[in-house]
Amino acid sequence: MDNAYIHPLLREMARIFQDRGREVYLVGGAVRDMFRGQRAQDWDLATNALPEEVIAMFRWVIPTGIKHGTVTVHYKGRAIEVTTFRTESTYSDGRRPDRVNFAAAIEEDLSRRDFTMNAIALRLPSGDPVDPFGGRGDIEKRIIRSVGNPAERFAEDGLRSLRAVRFAAVLGFAVEEATLAAIRPALGLTAKVSPERIRDELDKILGAGKNGGPSTAFRLMEQTGLLELLLPELAACRGVEQKGYHCFDVLDHSLLAGDYAVREQYPRHVILAALFHDIGKPATRKAGEQGVWTFYQHEKESSRLCRNILSRLRYPNAVCDGTCHLIEEHMFHYTGDWSDAAVRRFIIRVGEENLENLYRLRRADAYAMAGLDPGPEFLLPLAARVDAELAKGRAFSLKDLAVSGKDLIETGIKPGKYMGIILQELFETVVNDPSMNQREKLLEIAGKINQRYM
Ligand code: ATP
Ligand code: MG
Repeated sequence: MDNAYIHPLLREMARIFQDRGREVYLVGGAVRDMFRGQRAQDWDLATNALPEEVIAMFRWVIPTGIKHGTVTVHYKGRAIEVTTFRTESTYSDGRRPDRVNFAAAIEEDLSRRDFTMNAIALRLPSGDPVDPFGGRGDIEKRIIRSVGNPAERFAEDGLRSLRAVRFAAVLGFAVEEATLAAIRPALGLTAKVSPERIRDELDKILGAGKNGGPSTAFRLMEQTGLLELLLPELAACRGVEQKGYHCFDVLDHSLLAGDYAVREQYPRHVILAALFHDIGKPATRKAGEQGVWTFYQHEKESSRLCRNILSRLRYPNAVCDGTCHLIEEHMFHYTGDWSDAAVRRFIIRVGEENLENLYRLRRADAYAMAGLDPGPEFLLPLAARVDAELAKGRAFSLKDLAVSGKDLIETGIKPGKYMGIILQELFETVVNDPSMNQREKLLEIAGKINQRYM
């Protein structure tokens, strides 16, 4: 591809810059993705016009990152980030440049970018490429390579190393040797990056489905020390052998489960649960009989560690709760001799709305034992029993009971602590025997329980 396809809207915008005697280029991920043969979603533009000039050129402009020379232009239904050519001076905290200076030429702006594949510009409106670092060649070779000296570049910004492994997983590219080798010496700086920015990268890693899977990133993280730094709980799973049905140590098992969950496009909290469901194993492993290891109650420890990780990375509470609940419940062992009551207790414990996701977690777990898909029959007998119970429409929560607290008060039971205990006992009665869910029967039992507490 010599000249890339340039969207008519970009040509139109470029003419507005040209009329003011200014240059404008398409830059960043949009250009990289075009040379990978993919249509880009987001447009980033770089210009030698100052932010206030850009603000004057268009009717609707939001100063989204004015400190860094960035404004967002809303133009014909699109939001386009426009950044004045930059050169960066010192980074004293490893996160953000202390000062932003504007550069005179696009080449200088490209030289501050992280990787050669991200440092290509297309001049607008012509689409002529400006590629001073051989980015197109590296895209063709599928290589992630730092612009300039990798050690210096990673020493400027602690997030870049994580971006490198993220791109490796998302694009299915290899990280060039010297670039990879520069990650470890810069770990001290990566340690200072804000948890939110780490989380955003992790989320993007967990979106890597098409070209391999998140494990590509996690293996590179392990190799470079990033895993030990950012997810030590996962790093500790290396070499923890399991034997029995398992072919892999706990880390490889976890990574396989994560890849499967991503490939199946499960919801994010199921992917997180797949990745972290066994991180409690290193701490709970004990030698059992005949050389078999036991991991008694590891699901509780996994859930506890997972909550630490997710809150440390500032995941929303709902994500923490959803993920940890699945992890805590992942150790059920269904057999055909479960009673209907046992099936109902399972439904209640898991929660009807979480059943599908728990099955998904177990599929990922089963796959990751030997890297074999468990097949369509997997968990079907349990799912059929569960569906049969659900179809009976019988009580699965206190509010489905045939009596309410109000009914109990009317029969003379006092509101308060005992009321709660009585309702819970009635509920358990009904879970064990749904035919008991009748007003008269329950009131009778309630009366008897109440006498116990009188
Ligand atoms: P994606 O949007 O898929 O994450 P992207 O390459 O567009 O990929 P952005 O974070 O949107 O990534 O950044 C846009 C461009 O800004 C990048 O292509 C790169 O040129 C530059 N850039 C972003 N972050 C950094 C960084 N930490 N260091 C140097 N350059 C960066
Ligand atoms: Mg982008």
